[in-house]
Amino acid sequence: MRTHLSFLFHMTDLLNPTPSSRRDFMRTLSLGAGATLVGTSALGAPLDWLAPERKLGVALVGLGNYSGGQLAPALQQTKFCQLAGVVTGSPEKAAKWQQQYNIPAKNCYDYKTFDRMIDNPAIDIVYVVLPNAMHAEYVVRAAQAGKNVICEKPLATSAADARHMIAAVEKAGKKFSVGYRLHFEPHNQEMMRLGQSQAYGKINHLVADNGFKFGSGSTPWRVDKKLSGGGPLMDMGIYCLQGCLYTKGQVPVSVTASFTPETGTGYFKEVEAGVNWQLHFADGSVADCRTSYAQNMQGKLRAEAANGWFELEPAYAYGGLAGKTSKNDGKLDLPNLNQQAAQMDDFAQCVLQNKPTRVPGEMGLRDVQLLEAIYRAAETGKSVSTKDVVQLIDRTNAK
Ligand code: NAD
Repeated sequence: MRTHLSFLFHMTDLLNPTPSSRRDFMRTLSLGAGATLVGTSALGAPLDWLAPERKLGVALVGLGNYSGGQLAPALQQTKFCQLAGVVTGSPEKAAKWQQQYNIPAKNCYDYKTFDRMIDNPAIDIVYVVLPNAMHAEYVVRAAQAGKNVICEKPLATSAADARHMIAAVEKAGKKFSVGYRLHFEPHNQEMMRLGQSQAYGKINHLVADNGFKFGSGSTPWRVDKKLSGGGPLMDMGIYCLQGCLYTKGQVPVSVTASFTPETGTGYFKEVEAGVNWQLHFADGSVADCRTSYAQNMQGKLRAEAANGWFELEPAYAYGGLAGKTSKNDGKLDLPNLNQQAAQMDDFAQCVLQNKPTRVPGEMGLRDVQLLEAIYRAAETGKSVSTKDVVQLIDRTNAK
């Protein structure tokens, strides 16, 4: 009776719901009636504020620094998905993760048993967090196992691989996104909004940098070209590239670039120590970007427009992001949230509600095409046209 009355009470709220009444309504439904509502209500109103009864299960593939340090903790905060499984080549790691995160043994796989996930309905999403050159194989295998897939950046080490991955997920009829966490981060979303709405007029110049000093404690595969596909450009520079595109709201028409000199550390025999590059946009504006494994950089994203400027520094970190604009000449007053939790929850909702992701595989392909063009420009010293790359921009928050 109590549940029934409570249900009626909340039905009136449904017509004009507040966040707390939405939560109560959902709790009433899932406790009382055991219902799961996702998608669209009978009234045609979107129901994306309703949490599913069962959170989607995520399996992390590769239990290295990013999985252990960021993704697994974030999956303790997500509302629409949870850590359900792991794939690792190390039985010791599997045992440790099973215990730490209460993962059933039946949801733990190694790289040989990976494909058996096809028979495991507890895993809805496979998240590939392996060295870059391994992304393609495991995305394709995840798709063939009938799973939705998130793949870390850079999507692949070649545009050909990226296309193959997109085709495999499409063939499986599943959803595919890139681990572009900053698209779900308020400071970066504000850069998109300010830039794309031309709040300060036309952007004439962008500046972006991101790098760190590679050393003995750094992961060796990052300087092994077969596994990484390239050096800091693939790893850190991709954030600058992304930032300039979503702030400007355009894909460049050409790029120019040059490598920075070898540093004598001996680390950079196969990959570059650093790259400086320029993105040239159709309206004549230019983005000056740099990345390095030889120098620590805070991570900057700055836009200079006709009527003022706006910038973030640090722009790409997991937290502590801060921004300023010429108008208030002070801080952008925006929250720092758990970026990975926001990113994974967004993807889970895309799966649950069958809606497109803001960061699809095609965006990953676009960026790999641009990275290839930047390498080609640095190698040849010539301007390289990028007119044929995928034309795709995240329009989040643009007014
Ligand atoms: P890592 O070296 O810490 O982890 C890689 C994992 O892959 C390890 O568990 C390792 O055991 C496993 N692995 C399996 N086969 C391997 C092989 N042949 N060689 C090396 N390792 C192998 O790396 P990471 O920093 O966690 O990066 C993994 C991926 O995540 C990369 O694509 C990286 O670009 C991406 N990443 C993204 C972010 C982000 O903010 N989105 C941050 C860090 C890393």
